[in-house]
Amino acid sequence: MPPAPTSSRRERRVSRRVRLARRRALAIVLVLVVAGVSAYLLTRPGVAEADGAGDPPSAPSSPVATPEPEQPSATPSPTPTAEPAVCDDPALIDALDNGSDADVIAAIGGGDAFREAVASGAAPCIDLTDATRTWVVVNKRNALDPIDYWPTPQAQPSGIRVVSGGGWLRADAAAALDELAAAIVADGVGTLGVDSAFRPYAFQVDLYNGYVASRGQAAADLRSARPGHSEHQTGLAVDVVACDNGCGSHDGFKGTAHAQWLVDNAWRFGFVVRYEDGQTDVTGYSWEPWHLRYLGPELAAAYHDGGYRTLEGFFGLPAAPDYDS
Ligand SMILES: [Zn+2]
Repeated sequence: MPPAPTSSRRERRVSRRVRLARRRALAIVLVLVVAGVSAYLLTRPGVAEADGAGDPPSAPSSPVATPEPEQPSATPSPTPTAEPAVCDDPALIDALDNGSDADVIAAIGGGDAFREAVASGAAPCIDLTDATRTWVVVNKRNALDPIDYWPTPQAQPSGIRVVSGGGWLRADAAAALDELAAAIVADGVGTLGVDSAFRPYAFQVDLYNGYVASRGQAAADLRSARPGHSEHQTGLAVDVVACDNGCGSHDGFKGTAHAQWLVDNAWRFGFVVRYEDGQTDVTGYSWEPWHLRYLGPELAAAYHDGGYRTLEGFFGLPAAPDYDS
């Protein structure tokens, strides 16, 4: 009969189990500590680069791999290439030398781009005082140069009644006026007539002096340009009247359906109403709904679409309410 286990033997077994359990726990703790230290060393940024130890940096499957931080470049970034100056563009240079006004505007990128380049000062090769161009600005601060400038070629419109003054205009403006006159009839609004178009310098001398004699100089300056300062001398301006039951006057044109149609539609044919109501502080002239100025279709569309009220505002020029002297 095997000896009955004594209490001391049982105690020794229990003690052995406790020791085994402690060893296992210690082993587990050691494994966990080693694993933790290893993980820390592997994930510490830059450890591989710093000491050359650890897992090779090529281990792409590491779930804790982080992208290497961006290192500042040792050499400065290349300076962005500056935009070539507008006026250095060979296409623009060629258009200015050999092309039409439309060619020049197209070379800059169209009416909006042209306006922006001029108004911002980025296109000094565009001369707003060049009376041979559709973009010329003639006002109380900008006289024509030469003072007796005479535009060529000129033509008379053929599709609109000429009430007085011969109706001569620069040829492209005359052709555009024919289209405009046909369109206002086609729209059922009424018929226009021409009541003044090209006016030479000598004619303007007499006209202006007549206004001064009858109204005094201050009133004359609100209504009529001094010689050398009139848009009519460029061949790009025309005064129109309503001609449905006989032809009306300039002042009678105010408030007509014809005048409103011009506000809404003249731009489609390259014209703008140059002296709007409420713009005397900028233009120096009272409201003249009959005075159309030819800018060409590209610039007139940009003027209309941009909501401009004056040519001075369109090109970013100072107001010209009065003469320098
Ligand atoms: Zn006029």
